[in-house]
Amino acid sequence: MKIAIIGGGVAAFEAACAARALDQTSEIVLYSREAVPPYRRPALSGMIAEPMADAQFFIKPPAFYEEKRILLKLGTGVRSIDPAAGKLLLDDGEEAAYDRLLLATGSHCFLPPVPGIDGKNVLSLREFRDLEEIRRRIEGGARNVVVIGGGLLGLELAASILARGCTVTVIEGCPALLPRNLDAEAAELVRSRLAAIPGLTLRFGTCVKAITSAGVELNGNETLPADLVLVSAGTRANLEPAASAGLKCNRGIVTDDAMRTGTPGIFAAGDCAEVNGVCYGLYTAARAMGQTAGTNIASGNAVFKPEAYPARLAVFGLKIFSAGRLEGNSSKVERDDAKGTFQKLFHDAAGKLVGCILIGDLRAAMKLQAEIDQGL
Ligand SMILES: Cc1cc2nc3c(=O)[nH]c(=O)nc-3n(C[C@H](O)[C@H](O)[C@H](O)COP(=O)(O)OP(=O)(O)OC[C@H]3O[C@@H](n4cnc5c(N)ncnc54)[C@H](O)[C@@H]3O)c2cc1C
Repeated sequence: MKIAIIGGGVAAFEAACAARALDQTSEIVLYSREAVPPYRRPALSGMIAEPMADAQFFIKPPAFYEEKRILLKLGTGVRSIDPAAGKLLLDDGEEAAYDRLLLATGSHCFLPPVPGIDGKNVLSLREFRDLEEIRRRIEGGARNVVVIGGGLLGLELAASILARGCTVTVIEGCPALLPRNLDAEAAELVRSRLAAIPGLTLRFGTCVKAITSAGVELNGNETLPADLVLVSAGTRANLEPAASAGLKCNRGIVTDDAMRTGTPGIFAAGDCAEVNGVCYGLYTAARAMGQTAGTNIASGNAVFKPEAYPARLAVFGLKIFSAGRLEGNSSKVERDDAKGTFQKLFHDAAGKLVGCILIGDLRAAMKLQAEIDQGL
């Protein structure tokens, strides 16, 4: 049997390994547009400031793929799929046959539709080549950087850029930082800590009107000078090859919890998949979906079980953890400003823990997460 996997991220990697663990004889081919083997994508933001050893960055060394007989076709994009013929059309015009197929095409950075978003001074960070380009710009003299988006990745980018000696302004459209990961009280605490960091400016409730070669124009006719603008305004699933095959797509490729699309023999996993109506956009979820898909491609019987995927952030000397629903029938706060610690627990009507936010001291994180997971 020929197993084809489209994508070169963690979902693709895990699927290839899971399929090989059950099936020693099938051909497994992984097609990736990227020129490098699968790596730990979340490491990219920190690598703007500090390079990382290959052994930590890449999920496995090249010898692993040879040993497992997983053929990596790097720098090889898949343009479209013909499910009736069981064929892939590659970017270089070649065709490749498959019997079972996994789409693990991930996602791309959303670029808000403002004038100048396609300018030469505007970049985003999704792939290894983006990291190389951002580093080149900084080494080429970029000093004033504006980051559009005050989420987890926006703050990680800001911390790395600041560590390279640039000044950074983070623009967030919502009235508070980390709108998906903190409630108003915790967001205000984080804001006040970050306000004291030299070289970092935070702007909330601010909308970008346009980007020019001079910088970022805000509503209200203010211009923030910038020689580099980094956009971190969310992601969108990569749906192109799936759509060409007529697979059902909403925000992601629609799958059941076995990662099956409606088309026999075709699976989807990771950021590109929408499982029971949810697009996760998270590394650990992509890993678990990849394992499920790979097992089922090799005729196993696995089901993807979502967890209360926590958010973690460690930037500017500030450690943050949040998990579950940040709302409930009641909440309890413990805060010690002298120690810089904050803990907020959210409970439902029955008194069950449904979510938590920890700042400063994260020792209780795993225990709280396990308690939240139990209630899912
Ligand atoms: C800088 C950064 C920091 C992050 N930090 C965190 C974090 O702290 N925690 C967390 O949970 N998540 C984080 N994420 C998100 C996390 O990395 C993703 O959820 C995860 O990588 C998704 O894995 P995936 O395999 O589904 O897709 P991806 O990792 O996006 O991989 C998809 C791959 O498919 C390739 N591809 C796409 N289309 C085609 C095609 N047509 N043909 C061939 N190849 C194709 C792409 O080039 C890419 O290599 C971060 C992401 C970034 C960019």
